[in-house]
Amino acid sequence: MMEHLVDFAVDPCDDFYAFSCSAKTRGTKGPFPRKVIDEKEVLLKFPPKKFEYMKKFYISCTKINTGFTTEEVFEKCVEADGPGGEKCTKEELEEYGDIYVQMVGYIQQFFKETAFPAVTSDWEEATKDWFGGAGWTWYGVAAKVLKDYFYLGAFTQIQIVKNRSNKKISQTETFKSNVFFAPLINSVKMKNEDFHEIYIVPMTIPSRLGRLTSDPGYKELMVNVLKSFGGNASTVEADASRILEMEKQLVEIDLPSSLSGQDFKEANGEFRELTIRELATSVPVVPWISYIEAALDHNPSVKIRPSTRVYVPDISKMKALGRMVKDLSVRDSANLLVWRMFIKFANDFLNTGSESGDLQENPWQGSTRKEICLNQIDAFFPYAYDDLTIAENIDEKTTKDIKTMFQNLQKEFENIIDAQDWMSRPTKKNAKDKAKAMKINVGERTPNTREYKQLSEKMASNNYIGNILEIGNYQFDSLVKKLEEPVNIIDYLYDEQVWNALYFRSRNEMIILTGLVHGFFGIGLDFDIPAGLLYGGFRTLGHEMVHGFDNNGRHFDMDGLRFDWWKSSEVTEYNKRTQCLVEQYQNFSISYEGEDYSQRNAAPAGENIADNGGGMAVYETYKRLPEAEKHCVPGFNFTSDQLFWLGYSFYWCTHSGSHEDIKDYRHILRGSPSSSGHFPAPWRVNTVFSNLPQFAEAFQCLQGSRLNPGQEERCAVWSVP
Ligand SMILES: [Zn+2]
Repeated sequence: MMEHLVDFAVDPCDDFYAFSCSAKTRGTKGPFPRKVIDEKEVLLKFPPKKFEYMKKFYISCTKINTGFTTEEVFEKCVEADGPGGEKCTKEELEEYGDIYVQMVGYIQQFFKETAFPAVTSDWEEATKDWFGGAGWTWYGVAAKVLKDYFYLGAFTQIQIVKNRSNKKISQTETFKSNVFFAPLINSVKMKNEDFHEIYIVPMTIPSRLGRLTSDPGYKELMVNVLKSFGGNASTVEADASRILEMEKQLVEIDLPSSLSGQDFKEANGEFRELTIRELATSVPVVPWISYIEAALDHNPSVKIRPSTRVYVPDISKMKALGRMVKDLSVRDSANLLVWRMFIKFANDFLNTGSESGDLQENPWQGSTRKEICLNQIDAFFPYAYDDLTIAENIDEKTTKDIKTMFQNLQKEFENIIDAQDWMSRPTKKNAKDKAKAMKINVGERTPNTREYKQLSEKMASNNYIGNILEIGNYQFDSLVKKLEEPVNIIDYLYDEQVWNALYFRSRNEMIILTGLVHGFFGIGLDFDIPAGLLYGGFRTLGHEMVHGFDNNGRHFDMDGLRFDWWKSSEVTEYNKRTQCLVEQYQNFSISYEGEDYSQRNAAPAGENIADNGGGMAVYETYKRLPEAEKHCVPGFNFTSDQLFWLGYSFYWCTHSGSHEDIKDYRHILRGSPSSSGHFPAPWRVNTVFSNLPQFAEAFQCLQGSRLNPGQEERCAVWSVP
C-alpha cells in the first residue's frame, strides 16, 4: 500500500496530501480492495448465531402458501359438501399448510377473548360480568387488545426516507387504528426536539372499503368467516348485513386510511394539542383517563390527568366518529369492532402476495411473499441490517481496542484543556467534566434490554402469527415504557455501512459506524498494523471528540444540555481563535503543476476546529504509547512518528474510494467546502498539519515551507501550538 500511495517526487513539507496520495496511481485499483459488505438478503437468511431469530422469523413468514389466497382457503373449507360441512376442520386446513391450522386456533382464541357476538351464542349472558359488571364495552376490549394483541388493534409503520445517494435522511411514521380511538405513541421524530408522546388515532379504514361494501365477494367472505367460526346459520346473514351497513357509515365519515405526522398539524404547521379535558368535551364517548391508562398499563408509572396533553387529528371527523359510536347498540359496536380488527389483521399479515385483484390490500412493499417477508423484517426489526452488519464486521476485540483508544484520548484531551492558558479554572473544570463524561458507541444498536432478549428467544420458525403478535406487543410495550422520554435519533437515522462517525452534542456521545471501522485503508481496522499508521488513520476519533468543544458543542454541558459556562472574556478569545482559523483556511493555497488552488469563501468553522484539535489530541495520545509498540514498516525509511502523519493522510486519500475513483487530482482541488464546513481533503490534511509543529518536526520541514510557516502564522482553538 505504501508503494501504491506514496509519491516520493512530492515535497512532503509542501503538499503532504499529494505526497501520500500519489497522482501517478490515481484512478487505479489499490492493492487492498475494499471489503464488500454483504447484501441484505444474504445476511438475513444466513445470519450469525446471535441473530438466528431473524432467520426463524423469515422462515415462519414464508410458510404462508402462495398458491392460494387466504380467502380462497376459507372459501373452500366452508363449502357445505366438504368433510366438516360448513365448519373448517383441521384436516381440511392442513392440506393448505400448518399455518392455516394455527391461524384458525389464534382466531378462535381472539374471537373468544373479545366475545365476537356474531360467533358467540348467548352473547349478552356471556359478557354480562365483564369489566367489573359493566358488560362488554368497546374501550375495555380495545385497551386489552392494544396491550395483548397489539397488531390486531393498531399498526404503525415506519418509512425510511433516503436521498439520491441512498443515504437515510429521515424517517416518517404512519399510524393506523382498527379500534374506534387508539392512544398510540410515536417511535420516530415527528417534530424538532422530540419526545415519545401520545397521539389519539381514530379508526382508519382502507380506501377501498367503500367499494368493498358493495362487492358481493366481500359479503361472501364475511359470511364464510362467521360460519367457519361457529356463527349460527340463522343469524349470520343478518349480522353480516349489519356490519356492512356500519362500514358504509365509516366510509361516509370519510375516515383516512392512515395518519402521518402531517395529519396532526394545524394549517399554521403547529401540532394540534388538546388536554384530556378538552378531548373529552369534544368526544364524550370514551372515559379517556381510564381508557388510556388501561391501554398503557404495562408502564405502571403512566398517569393521565385532565391536564395531560395529547395530539389529535382533524377534530370534526373525531366528533363524527364519536357520534356514530354513541348511537350504536353495544352488540352492533362489538360486531363492528371485532370484525374490523380481524379483517385488518388478516389483510396486513396474511396477504399471500399471489393475487393482484383479490379483496386484500397489500400494505407491504413487494409482490411475492418473500419480498413481503423481507420488508416485514425491515419494519419489525428496524436495526436488523445494522445489527447484522456490525456482528459480521466488528468483533469484540476491535470494539475493546477502540474503547481503550477512546479512553486514552479522553485523558489526553483533559491535558490539552489544562494547557489552555486563556481559560479560567472553573471553565476548565466544566470542559474536563464534559470530556470525562463523553460516551462512545461502537456498533451497539440492538436494544440491550431484557425485553428484546426475551422477544428474540420467542421467535419460532413454525409460528408466524405467534411471532407477529409477540413483535407487536414488544413494540408497543417498549414505546409505552419510553413515554415522555426523548426520541433517540441515533436509533434510526444512520446506516451502519456509512464510512463515518458522528458526535451528538445533545447526548454528549459519539457513535462509530461500522463503515468507518471497516473502510479503514480498505482493510478493516486491524490493531496489528504499526501504531503510527493506526492512530493516524483513526483520526476521526479525535475529530468527533472535539466536536463536543467546537463553536457549537461548547454551548452544551456534560449531559448534553445547553449551559453557558464560559466567561465573556473567554468567549472573546474563543471567537478570536476561531476567526484565525477561518481566515487561514480562506488564504491557504495548494499548488499543483504550476497552478495555485484556494478556497476563498468562508465556511462554518466547527469542522476545522474539530480537525485541528482532534488531530493534535490523537497525535499526543499516540505519542504516549510505549516505544516498543511503535513499529515501523519494513522496507521503508519512515520513522514511527512519520507513519502517524502518513496514516492520517492515507485516511483522507482513500476515504470512500476517492483515490481509486477520481482520476485527476485537480478535480479534488477544485472542489469546495460542504455546507457544514468540511473542506476538500487536501485542506483537511495540509492546513491542519501546517498548524501542528509536531508534524514539521517529524519531517524536518524547513522554517518557512508551506507546512512549517512559523509560530506566528499558526492558528489553533484547542491545539497547543
Ligand atoms: Zn465533523
